[in-house]
Amino acid sequence: MIIPQEYKWIFWEKSDNPLYKAFKNKSCIDPRFLLFETEIKDFNTQNIINSSFDESKFNAIYIHIPFCKTRCTYCRFFTEFNNENILNSYVESLVKEIINQPVIKIRKKIINAVYLWWWTPTVLEEKHITAIFDAIKKTHILSNDCEITFESNISLLNENKISALKNAWINRFSFWIQSFNTKVRKFVWRLSEKELLINMIKDIRKRNFANISIDLIYWLPFQDIEILKEDINIWAWLWIEWFDIYQLDSSLLEKKFWDKLEFLTVSKRIEMFEMANQSLFELWYKNINNTHYSNTSRERNLYTELTRAWSEIMRTDTIWYWAWAQWRIWVFKYSINPDVNLYVNAIKWSKSPIVKYLKINEEKKILYDLIWQMDFGIINCWWFKTLYNEDLFIKFWYLFDKWEENGLIVYSENNTIRLTLAWRFWKTNCIHWLIIWDNILNNK
Ligand code: SF4
Repeated sequence: MIIPQEYKWIFWEKSDNPLYKAFKNKSCIDPRFLLFETEIKDFNTQNIINSSFDESKFNAIYIHIPFCKTRCTYCRFFTEFNNENILNSYVESLVKEIINQPVIKIRKKIINAVYLWWWTPTVLEEKHITAIFDAIKKTHILSNDCEITFESNISLLNENKISALKNAWINRFSFWIQSFNTKVRKFVWRLSEKELLINMIKDIRKRNFANISIDLIYWLPFQDIEILKEDINIWAWLWIEWFDIYQLDSSLLEKKFWDKLEFLTVSKRIEMFEMANQSLFELWYKNINNTHYSNTSRERNLYTELTRAWSEIMRTDTIWYWAWAQWRIWVFKYSINPDVNLYVNAIKWSKSPIVKYLKINEEKKILYDLIWQMDFGIINCWWFKTLYNEDLFIKFWYLFDKWEENGLIVYSENNTIRLTLAWRFWKTNCIHWLIIWDNILNNK
């Protein structure tokens, strides 16, 4: 098999220690951008939604809050600085968009998950929270077990906001802590101190109306394995239901900080990953998917789970209110101009804020599903044979044999393939390979 020269950098290495040596360089960038889509010209939003919505499928609502108090140094997301006037008119527009949602089909659908996310929904005041959730409850039908998540910068919460969130039926908090270590936090411009975070988490815990999920990043400037160990111990001691641990995509970090990362070589990062896995296992945390760990069954992370897959079985339609990043209704992805003022004006003049539709390449749907399934540590080939009439063992035999030879996967019984710890660390490299391999096969 001839491998094009430009892909050699992500090529695997045969070794007796795949966790440390499977690849030369670690890629941190999600390679799904390689799954190309085509842009639809002259679209009509109503027609697209009417033709693609299916009432029997899962549904989620996403609400985007593009405001932050400060700019974290590793962040390249679009975000507005918090300004009371802009925030007020933004929330008014959001409420108007939700209430005036013209597509009747959307209103009839049962909603399984609601997510208020990026960038910092905690900038919202009590009146904003109440207005947004009143609008949602008036216009949408929430399922009895609807998961309602509020992504939060914990230091921006206060008594009034917490009680508004409780009244709004929030049942899941997702806190972006990244690290409890005050020095590490300050270098990435997360300014609140460790003691404040711990006290706030204890307070939310006591109120017991929502479960708590926390994000941890490793490979931050000045962070080392001892700091990571201490972070994990604090979290376990606080009895947090859910951890999400992932590696910083260093290309996002401001250039002036790059030299602070150099001491964390790939092997140091592997040590951190290995230690985190082992510690969480010893602290009774189950590994739910590639980066998530849970210690009870209370946590579901339903929104993320539902909105990742493409297949008919797990299909979920997502209704976005203000969507800078692209999301999707079935095979269509749509996006909205990131300028908040343009959004406010579009809503004011009752125009659709959607500026672009992309259609997923149907031939790549199987890859989306495969990548989704691999996140759970397993590939069930029978499932793909049934759903797509595609035998993965035949299609990807060369790639799978190489992975197996190099300790990244283990062939199991009943047409399944188990992914090893090494695969999990090198996940982005492996997925890069999978997508490239598929292209090579298709272009042959
Ligand atoms: S809070 Fe989130 S969106 Fe805002 S600057 Fe930090 S990382 Fe970026």
